[in-house]
Amino acid sequence: MKDTSKHQGLRNQLVTVLQQKGITNKSVLEAISKIPRHLFLNSSFEDYAYQDKAFPIGAGQTISQPYTVAFQTELLEVKKGDKVLEIGTGSGYQTAVLCMVGAVVYSVERQNELFKKTSLLLPKLGIRAKHLSFGDGYKGLPNYAPFDSIIVTAGAPEIPKALMSQLKIGGKLVIPVGEDIQVMTLVIRKGETQFEKHEFGDFRFVPLLEDKN
Ligand code: SAH
Repeated sequence: MKDTSKHQGLRNQLVTVLQQKGITNKSVLEAISKIPRHLFLNSSFEDYAYQDKAFPIGAGQTISQPYTVAFQTELLEVKKGDKVLEIGTGSGYQTAVLCMVGAVVYSVERQNELFKKTSLLLPKLGIRAKHLSFGDGYKGLPNYAPFDSIIVTAGAPEIPKALMSQLKIGGKLVIPVGEDIQVMTLVIRKGETQFEKHEFGDFRFVPLLEDKN
């Protein structure tokens, strides 16, 4: 599959849709206008890739809806060079958005099939994540901690303690919390043991699953 002017036109329309839904962060919108989302999907989805929808990516998982990707990334307020941990690499689309807004990205995926596929795809598209790994993101990546921010792209029944402990002071964790429906939650680490929590409405994610490896 190639990236053509037709795809660029569809991306521009998607950016307009996201703006209408309330996304304002310029670097997030620019990333979405540049990243060829159709190349993160099986070719049978090419015609739909720029709809604001989630689609299957194999292993029972989905690529997040662009609005969700934009909303979560906006909440992170990434500054260039921020060290960001992503839990749930999946297709790599959110990883690409994080790289493009200037983050140094560490990402963890627990489905080996997706880990392998995405590890090959990202470099082909010129997207250089700092570290992609296969494992259980519930545990975070203690060897690489602390992080400026952490983004979880699957629905967590509760906020994993390990992730809170791997935030820098002042760092942000964006995580959808809940069983069937998730509340988008922003946790800011205010001090060694102080955390502030903000909630941002309902979303629907595939579940964050523990320990399969
Ligand atoms: N950011 C991805 C979202 C994929 S869906 C994208 O836009 O394509 C969520 C992903 O989280 C799935 O790939 C799923 O396999 C992964 N996941 C679920 N539980 C996990 C865990 N404990 N650790 C790491 N990844 C996990």
